[in-house]
Amino acid sequence: MSERTPAGPPSGEADKMALFCQECGHTSPMSGDWLVQEGTDGYRVVCPECGTAVVSQPVFGAFA
Ligand SMILES: [Zn+2]
Repeated sequence: MSERTPAGPPSGEADKMALFCQECGHTSPMSGDWLVQEGTDGYRVVCPECGTAVVSQPVFGAFA
């Protein structure tokens, strides 16, 4: 039983995801230094370097 890996929470997958800014090339994990803004249609991830919205979809809904 010692080889069995305990099932982790879905948030563990998010830590492995890296986001990439197409404007300035800034790359950071989703849990990194991105600016998260809450809008009327969900959340968006904004690049801290150039302010470009990297993710404009309410992807965080999967983690709620
Ligand atoms: Zn950028």
